[in-house]
Amino acid sequence: MKILPGLSTFLLAVTASVAAPPNIVFIFSDDHAYQAISAYGDARKLLATPNIDRIAKAGMRFDRCVVPNSICGPARATVLTGKYSHLNGYPNNAGNARFDGTQVTFPKLLQKAGYQTAMIGKWHLGSDPTGFDFWQVLPGQGAYYNPPMTRNGQPVQNSGYVTDIITDVSLDWLQRRNKTKPFLLMCQHKAPHREWEPALRHLDADGDRHYAEPPTLFDDYAGRGLAEHDQDMTIEQTMTEADLKLKPPPRLTPEQRKAWDAYYEPRNAAFRAANPQGRDLTRWKYQRYLHDYLATLRSVDESVGRVLDYLEREGLAENTIVVYASDQGFYLGEHGWFDKRWIFEESLRTPLLVRWPGVTKPGSANRDLVSNLDFAETFLEAAGVPVPAEMQGRSLVPILRGKRPADWRTSFYYQYYEYPAPHRVRPHYGVVTDRYKLVRFYGTGEDYWELFDLEKDPHELRSVHGEAAYTATQGELEKELTRLRRELKAPENVPPAWFGTRPAGRGKQAK
Ligand code: CA
Repeated sequence: MKILPGLSTFLLAVTASVAAPPNIVFIFSDDHAYQAISAYGDARKLLATPNIDRIAKAGMRFDRCVVPNSICGPARATVLTGKYSHLNGYPNNAGNARFDGTQVTFPKLLQKAGYQTAMIGKWHLGSDPTGFDFWQVLPGQGAYYNPPMTRNGQPVQNSGYVTDIITDVSLDWLQRRNKTKPFLLMCQHKAPHREWEPALRHLDADGDRHYAEPPTLFDDYAGRGLAEHDQDMTIEQTMTEADLKLKPPPRLTPEQRKAWDAYYEPRNAAFRAANPQGRDLTRWKYQRYLHDYLATLRSVDESVGRVLDYLEREGLAENTIVVYASDQGFYLGEHGWFDKRWIFEESLRTPLLVRWPGVTKPGSANRDLVSNLDFAETFLEAAGVPVPAEMQGRSLVPILRGKRPADWRTSFYYQYYEYPAPHRVRPHYGVVTDRYKLVRFYGTGEDYWELFDLEKDPHELRSVHGEAAYTATQGELEKELTRLRRELKAPENVPPAWFGTRPAGRGKQAK
């Protein structure tokens, strides 16, 4: 049926005047380093992510999105509540940690305001999801191959690859939703979390490419304190045989196992025959790690493409906010590390890309200090739902509109708790600005401060704490830290029970 030009203009005007609340698609991956998104332009050019980049091209790329506590469960609790760990009660991933699902979360408030809500994929908060009309989640960390899931409380068995399954279930829910209501879809991937197990179709996608090494792969931690020296998260020491695919993962069907072996077995045999030692061994581990980590992200990028295609095909793209983020950043060999946890850039910063047609300028970039603490308030404001006073972030809607408030934050408070297991990163808190980081390591018998000047030392290799040239800066940062701790109601003393409860110990070393 053709619509007369005049009539279609009239219909558009009517639609615009009603201003339907926007749909929200929140795509959230686990441990996705911004270094592995081509829109962020990493020097190593590690991975092309054409579909994730579509969000950046059509919207805004945030270059300094920081997290209050760089670890999985706590980041998820912060996204849901808009609060720091010390107030939402989820400071670490200790075995007995359970998110209190009775507290106020943004999905609950959107649901109350008439949104249909769905949570699909990795939840990782111990308790069952609340505030969702539909949920289908992986138990705990979940499995990459043929993963069991729980759908609205009932067990579901799946065949196939986890990222594909999460995408299928998400698109199926979108298709079956009540089309008279706005929706919130939280599509949360397990990938690229450890142990970085790729879809079998992507095992050979990079050929046998050699990945460039970061300049700090062989960091000796000189210029920094005990915490950096004593951690247990290096590629050299900490990676296990499962991490390095020197043994096959469980749960593969015989047919899947055949494909897995066809890729890894000849390469593992060559590795064992060569028997590299010392730095050569670390280099081999780095190459294997990068291969697997990046291969898992090919599926994530495909998933993003499928979701964007669906929204465009169904005519939903124009009134849907699409957000791509990860729960925190990740080390891809910088400082010799994998994993996260630190206040340092690679783990503190998380990717954030937002597409909001008609509101956010395509291809724009932002360097303000924003945070996943701000997501809840952003979604509520976008939906026209009042923000509870207890939330501790700030809505990004003005920034997305291109109107940054004059009083936007210029400092950010960080606090990490989980210790000693699994990676022996000592608890620390600190303040971050555009140029500096002041950090205190505490609570483990040793108590000391570090100060980093990112302008002079972008890789954060030398603490200048106590140096005469920084006396004034240090004093200002100390004052700001005290102010932030008071404003955010940070606890004066952190009880030991807030540390991780599992015993310390090194992972089994790969030979
Ligand atoms: Ca994570």
